[in-house]
This record gives sequence, structure tokens and C-alpha cells, in this order.
Amino acid sequence: MKPASLFTCRRCGYCCQGETTVSLNDDDRARMVAFLGLSEEETSARYWRVTDGCVQMKTVDGHCIFYNEGCSVHEARPWRCAQWPLHPAILLDPANLSAIRESCPGLRQEVSYDEFCRILKENQEDMERGHRDFIL
Ligand code: SF4
Ligand code: SF4
Repeated sequence: MKPASLFTCRRCGYCCQGETTVSLNDDDRARMVAFLGLSEEETSARYWRVTDGCVQMKTVDGHCIFYNEGCSVHEARPWRCAQWPLHPAILLDPANLSAIRESCPGLRQEVSYDEFCRILKENQEDMERGHRDFIL
């Protein structure tokens, strides 16, 4: 089951706004460095905010530094950005789906909670089998 049954990105950029961003793990950092073609030191100096060992992307004018009417590092974006808005917390509580629907206009409103969870679980199982389609 394709995640498009649940979500179509509208490119509104809401998820890239704010004064903080997702944190980057080791794979995220390596992918970003390779994509940008810079050294890790240069990438960090230009684009990362490091706080107590937590690496996030810098923000500029209230949005992620890579946001420019879309994600300018789309192919190398952090895994948490690629996962959004199909967050596994949705499976835990209908309130989480409601909250994420308020944040992301791309989520289909007409899909019931039970149906949403069924498709999301199928998608997660596909991901675990290595058949993940990146969705944004
Ligand atoms: S993921 Fe949702 S909030 Fe982010 S750009 Fe797409 S539609 Fe907008
Ligand atoms: S890396 Fe891309 S998708 Fe993630 S917050 Fe920044 S601009 Fe948005």
C-alpha cells in the first residue's frame, strides 16, 4: 500500500518553519556532507547548530536554513524529514493523528483512524523489508 493513500505533500513548507529543526543522526550528517560536497567542518560551520552534542540545522528567518520554496537538500534530507508526517506515534493515539493533521495539510482527512493505522502499518512493514518509497 502506497503512503500516497494517506498523504500527498502540498509543498506548503509548514514543516520546515520554526526556530528549531529535527536533529541529525550519523547517517543524516554523512549524507548531507556528501550531497553538499563540503567537508564536515565546513558543513557544520555553515549549516548546523550543535548544542550539547545534538546536531540540528540552523534556522534563518524562522525556517530551516535549507528551506527555499521547497527543500534544497531534498535527496539528502534527514530521515525525520523524510518520515514526516507519517510518524509512528500516530499508531499510539488518535489524538496524535489529529494533531499532525492540524500541522500538515497534505494528510488525507477522509481516511478513518483505523484505516489510516492499517495502511501506515503496511507501509512500515514495506520499509522494514527495504521497499520504502521516499514520499516527499
Ligand atoms: S509535509 Fe505537510 S506540512 Fe510539510 S510541506 Fe508537505 S504538506 Fe506541507
Ligand atoms: S532539511 Fe529540508 S525538509 Fe527538512 S526541515 Fe530543512 S528544508 Fe525542511
